[in-house]
Amino acid sequence: MTETLHIVGGGMAGSEAAWQAANMGVPVVIHEMRPKVATFAHRTGDLAEMVCSNSFRSDDDEQNAVGLLHWEMRAADGLIMQAADTHRLPAGGALAVDRDPFARMVTERLRAHPNVSVKTGEIDALPASGHWIIATGPLTSEGLGRAIAAETGAEALAFFDAIAPIVHFDSIDMTRAWMQSRYDKGETEEERTAYLNCPMDRATYEAFIDALLAAPKTEFHEGETAGYFDGCLPIEVMAERGRETLRHGPMKPVGLTNPHQPDVKPWAVVQLRRDNALGTLYNIVGFQTKMKYGAQTEVLRMIPGLENARFARLGGIHRNTFLNSPTLLDAQMRLRSRPNIRFAGQITGVEGYVESAAMGLLAGRMAAAEILGAPLPAPPQDSAMGALIHHITGGAEAKTFQPMNVNFGLFRPVEGLRGGRRGRRDRYKAYTDRAKAAWRGWLAHGRLDAPQPV
Ligand SMILES: Cc1cc2nc3c(=O)[nH]c(=O)nc-3n(C[C@H](O)[C@H](O)[C@H](O)COP(=O)(O)OP(=O)(O)OC[C@H]3O[C@@H](n4cnc5c(N)ncnc54)[C@H](O)[C@@H]3O)c2cc1C
Repeated sequence: MTETLHIVGGGMAGSEAAWQAANMGVPVVIHEMRPKVATFAHRTGDLAEMVCSNSFRSDDDEQNAVGLLHWEMRAADGLIMQAADTHRLPAGGALAVDRDPFARMVTERLRAHPNVSVKTGEIDALPASGHWIIATGPLTSEGLGRAIAAETGAEALAFFDAIAPIVHFDSIDMTRAWMQSRYDKGETEEERTAYLNCPMDRATYEAFIDALLAAPKTEFHEGETAGYFDGCLPIEVMAERGRETLRHGPMKPVGLTNPHQPDVKPWAVVQLRRDNALGTLYNIVGFQTKMKYGAQTEVLRMIPGLENARFARLGGIHRNTFLNSPTLLDAQMRLRSRPNIRFAGQITGVEGYVESAAMGLLAGRMAAAEILGAPLPAPPQDSAMGALIHHITGGAEAKTFQPMNVNFGLFRPVEGLRGGRRGRRDRYKAYTDRAKAAWRGWLAHGRLDAPQPV
């Protein structure tokens, strides 16, 4: 008798994990607390409910990393993609979804699967034995959140994200910016040059503050509390407190000399710090913000050196329960301290419907393979799935870890291709071609010809 896989949370990740494991012949129980216990964002008792926008973003699998993730999930017979494709709405190059029939189809397909049963109820403790995947998402219930924090340590589980914008390194103008840590601090040359600095003169700073104050901001959703203020004030709130506040905070110009203009003291300096081991992404230090996305791009491009910046992700602050995955999870998404428990979905520090479902797909396959006695190798780093899981379980800086969308900055560079804006189309095509080949290879490991009822 094959052992059962228990999945807590029937959202994007839990539903996809259940589908994958069940199709590999493993009996699955989904424990979903809705509709008995509600969250402030969900409205129904359906599985895979989309809580806000109805978009799966770009569906371009040659030039866009999220489109590539769609492709990889389709290649793996993903249920979330099948339902999204069935209930697709016209939206240009984006994949927009008719949310209610989408969620109903996921629910019906899982309930009808011979290997799946669904139990309604909240799980509020970490199970000591058995095979488990926890996929309870950004709104993990309070009781379970407490149990996870007791296991991981409170500092390794966050209840809000505070996302500073992240920039592709190759889009930064290094004729204006330079690398230097304040006061050249550090034992090694690498540490002494760990920060990327963008200088501002007084007029640019004043114009920047004006734009920041004028920019439209997003509000918290109803039910989200504003308990985020400790230690992660949005830059616009700092600016509202006084025009000089940022210059004495994250933008202080001290301990730095601009090698492009050594005799001119900058009025303010914006600092960026490396965000991944590959060195392809840099986050703007202390720049968490609730500016709306369009305005955010405009305001941030006023920073000297970032005029042509491409953003791997924009800043935000949300109610969001997530783990410090780089320290807590192994490459198979197992909790290092309790390997019978895997995590999947947004709670692992990815962000968005698609990324969450993708991490569910991987967790479901890896858990099922382990139960069947034939563990899978780690997904290839060159696939979108592999780039994302590699980032959250090891590639990201653990100290500053914040949720991540899939983007090409997470991919290993393809050698021999032209950098910069001009070479972008060829570069992205090379990434996606390489990813598809790698992903097909990995899928061949777990391939079972037909769903196998127990
Ligand atoms: C207000 C808000 C707006 C968002 N807007 C967007 C957006 O526009 N676009 C986007 O891509 N993403 C958005 N997100 C993020 C989105 O919710 C996630 O990316 C995605 O739904 C995460 O999938 P998941 O499976 O990890 O979590 P979910 O889809 O949230 O699923 C988790 C499930 O676990 C259940 N659960 C929680 N605790 C327990 C427990 N203890 N026992 C049993 N069940 C439990 C929940 O009821 C839920 O069904 C938003 C999130 C929030 C909170």
